[in-house]
Amino acid sequence: MTGILDKKDLEAKADAVVERIQTYLDEGKKVFTTSSFQSQSLPLLHMISRLDADIPVYYTNTGFLFPDTVRFADQLKQDLGLNLIALRPDAPKIKQLDAAGRFLYASDPDYCCYLNKVKPLEPILMEHDIWINGIRADQSSVRAAMAEVEPANYGCSRFHPMLGWDSKMVYYYRKYHDLPEHPLEVQGYLSIGCEPCTSKAREGNERNARWFGMNKTECGLNTTLVAGGN
Ligand code: SF4
Repeated sequence: MTGILDKKDLEAKADAVVERIQTYLDEGKKVFTTSSFQSQSLPLLHMISRLDADIPVYYTNTGFLFPDTVRFADQLKQDLGLNLIALRPDAPKIKQLDAAGRFLYASDPDYCCYLNKVKPLEPILMEHDIWINGIRADQSSVRAAMAEVEPANYGCSRFHPMLGWDSKMVYYYRKYHDLPEHPLEVQGYLSIGCEPCTSKAREGNERNARWFGMNKTECGLNTTLVAGGN
C-alpha cells in the first residue's frame, strides 16, 4: 500500500489542495465541486469547508438515491457548513421506462445515468471554470488514466486534487479529523450510488459493487463530461 500516513505529511498534502483551490479563486475562476457523499468523499469536502468561499457543492438527487445518502448529505451540510445544492433530472420517471415498461436502469443504464446524472450537471459546467472532482487513481482504470487537470466539456476544466491519494490516506485523514461514516458503509456497502445499481461488498475493487453483472463501472460523469468524452 502506497501513501503518506504520517499526520504531518497528510496535513501538508491537504494544505496544498486548499492552497491550489485558493489560487483558482484568487485568479477569479468560478469554482464548484460535486460529491457522492460517500465516506471517502469527506476529506475533500472537509478541505473545501476550510476555504472561506462558499464553493457550491452539487449533487444530483436522481430519485433513486438511498434515503440514507440524502440524510447524510444534509447532515454534512450542517456539520461542515457546505453550500449544498441538489440538482434534479428534467425527465420525469414516467418517461424513463423502456418498451417493456421497466425503468431504464434495468435495460439501458448508460442512458439512465445520462438522464439522471450527466444532463443535470451540463448547465453547471457551462457556468463555471473549474470542477473540483474527487476521483482517485486507485478506484478504477478509467480514473487512473486521468491527469490532475483535464479539460471538461463546455470550456470547464476538471481539477482532481485527490488523484494521488489512496484509500489508506483517506481513512487516516477521516480518522484524524473525526469525520463521520456513511451509514450504509457501516452495514457493509463499499461503494454507494443509486439504490437499484448498488450491491453490498464484492471481491476486488470497491467499484465492483456498482452495476454488478453489467459491463459498466462509471456513471458518465467521468467519461461523458470529459472533453472528447462520448
Ligand atoms: S446509477 Fe443506476 S439508477 Fe442511478 S442514474 Fe445510473 S443507471 Fe440510473
